Amino acid sequence: MEVEEGGEEYLFKVVIIGDSAVGKSNLLSRYARNEFNLNSKATIGVEFQTQSMAIDGKEVKAQIWDTAGQERFRAVTSAYYRGAVGALIVYDITRRTTFDSVARWLDELNTHSDTTIARMLIGNKLDLANIRDVSVEEGKALAEAEGMFFMETSALDSTNVKTAFELVIREIYNNVS
Ligand code: GDP
Ligand code: MG
Repeated sequence: MEVEEGGEEYLFKVVIIGDSAVGKSNLLSRYARNEFNLNSKATIGVEFQTQSMAIDGKEVKAQIWDTAGQERFRAVTSAYYRGAVGALIVYDITRRTTFDSVARWLDELNTHSDTTIARMLIGNKLDLANIRDVSVEEGKALAEAEGMFFMETSALDSTNVKTAFELVIREIYNNVS
């Protein structure tokens, strides 16, 4: 954490995890650059994006990390998690297998991070609610049982994307200040 003239400056590391193709990279590009890519294949080699918001008149920066597609091989490394104070665990509301994987991602997160990490469960692709395979109630219940925030989002039409990231960043700020 750096100190600059006029007060503190906050920099928080946030990681995005979840099965392949749930929309992790698009959630980040929507939040950080307001961009969406329909055919995003593998994530292009950007490790993280930094995004700022103001809380209590202070500048709070989030360094948000995206996997480079290594989740396909279940090989997200401990370096990815190192120093993270927030995590978004993402599933695709149209594919139940990705929801079933959340438990495994939580296990992995727990082995690599502090218990005080701010965690949010995200059911993405809300624009495809007509073909949903996981109900809102199931998402909510899992999040409650695990003490996580919960939100359904759409990286495609932007629904709740900014709200979700900012909620996690706010929670981290509350944890440390
Ligand atoms: P990642 O592997 O978790 O990083 O997933 P990507 O961000 O690469 O997205 C995988 C696929 O899902 C791509 O074809 C995206 O265009 C699509 N996708 C991502 N988010 C959404 C969304 O909110 N709605 C819809 N309909 N498609 C999405
Ligand atoms: Mg990706």
